[in-house]
Amino acid sequence: MEQVECVVVGAGVVGLAIARRLAQAGREVIVLEAAEGIGTGTSSRNSEVIHAGIYYRAGSLMARLCVSGKRALYAYCNDHGVPYRNCGKLIVATTAAEADKLAAIHSHAAANGVDDLRTLDGVAAHALEPALTCVAALLSPSTGIIDSHAYMLALRGDAEAAGAAFAFHAPLLSVASAGDDLVLEIGGETPMTLGSRLLINAAGLSAPAVARAIAPMPADLVPTAYLAKGNYFSCGVRAPFSHLIYPVPEPGGLGVHLTLDMAGQARFGPDVEWIDSIDYVVDPARAERFYPAIRKYWPGLPDGALSPGYSGIRPKIVPPAVAVQDFVIQGPQTHGVAGLINLFGIESPGLTASLAIADYVVDLAEAA
Ligand SMILES: Cc1cc2nc3c(=O)[nH]c(=O)nc-3n(C[C@H](O)[C@H](O)[C@H](O)COP(=O)(O)OP(=O)(O)OC[C@H]3O[C@@H](n4cnc5c(N)ncnc54)[C@H](O)[C@@H]3O)c2cc1C
Repeated sequence: MEQVECVVVGAGVVGLAIARRLAQAGREVIVLEAAEGIGTGTSSRNSEVIHAGIYYRAGSLMARLCVSGKRALYAYCNDHGVPYRNCGKLIVATTAAEADKLAAIHSHAAANGVDDLRTLDGVAAHALEPALTCVAALLSPSTGIIDSHAYMLALRGDAEAAGAAFAFHAPLLSVASAGDDLVLEIGGETPMTLGSRLLINAAGLSAPAVARAIAPMPADLVPTAYLAKGNYFSCGVRAPFSHLIYPVPEPGGLGVHLTLDMAGQARFGPDVEWIDSIDYVVDPARAERFYPAIRKYWPGLPDGALSPGYSGIRPKIVPPAVAVQDFVIQGPQTHGVAGLINLFGIESPGLTASLAIADYVVDLAEAA
């Protein structure tokens, strides 16, 4: 049986960041990826926003790893020539009742360490974005956008330069334990059995299924997977905005917001659609809910401008009735299986937080 020190399951942005960090720490690493290449899952189906860390519950892993991950990500982009734009975001109140909520968002953000938000009245917001209609806004200067594919290529390059190996078409099927080792059965094009001291389950939407296939893993510590699809619509006309525009959040989601890609093209979404199985098709009929929501802050949106774009699926580990979840990163201290780390529920801001998640996981591995 082949033996390797560390195996990372999943070559999404999180698995890549972890593999890079482990390899740079001098560990022998293999990344197993079921698909044909890196970043084909949720990591290429998101908004590509570098989040500031405004909304997450104070003290949560999401809040902490978003704020530290954001700083690390900007520095990484500068060092590695990864395209990004620190365009900023406006959270816009279109009614007096919404304006009343901005102060609470402002102080919540400060508690998370996001201390650069500025409150704008409607006139000041209009001066920044003349096409915008609002009565007040919060400006988040540290929000940005990133070319997530260039970022993932850079992570892979770093990992390989530090000696990490990648196996594609290589799904992890099951894991048993034998002495100090975990014994991995790998399927796909070249089925094999591999022994490993450290196994990182960064399988995204499939992380709970992968954990259930690990024989020594206590079943009661594996969360149920729920799927919350986010649909995007693209905009056929040039949207006259240079900042990202978000409404005041609504229960269950951030509301229909405007984000920009690196080419300046606007897209709207994601909305929230709970589904039972993976399905990325965007139903054109959902546009009917987007138009009125967008026109609250951009009355100039022309009829017929929206067309179905793409969708991504949030790896939820709580059902619809539970509003918030946190990242769940379990090491042996939690589940008792030596050499195993599971990452569950790595939804937004997982892209922003990826470098900080990698640091957190490697610290956990070293403490184990
Ligand atoms: C709609 C939406 C919008 C988002 N917007 C943002 C945003 O703007 N900013 C932000 O910071 N975050 C955002 N996120 C979150 C971010 O996209 C994710 O947190 C991040 O991409 C998760 O990366 P991952 O590596 O954990 O998962 P994935 O990218 O899903 O990677 C998991 C990988 O594991 C592989 N795999 C699965 N099972 C196996 C197996 N058995 N064996 C081998 N390989 C396996 C899969 O093929 C996949 O490649 C968004 C998410 C969604 C859904």
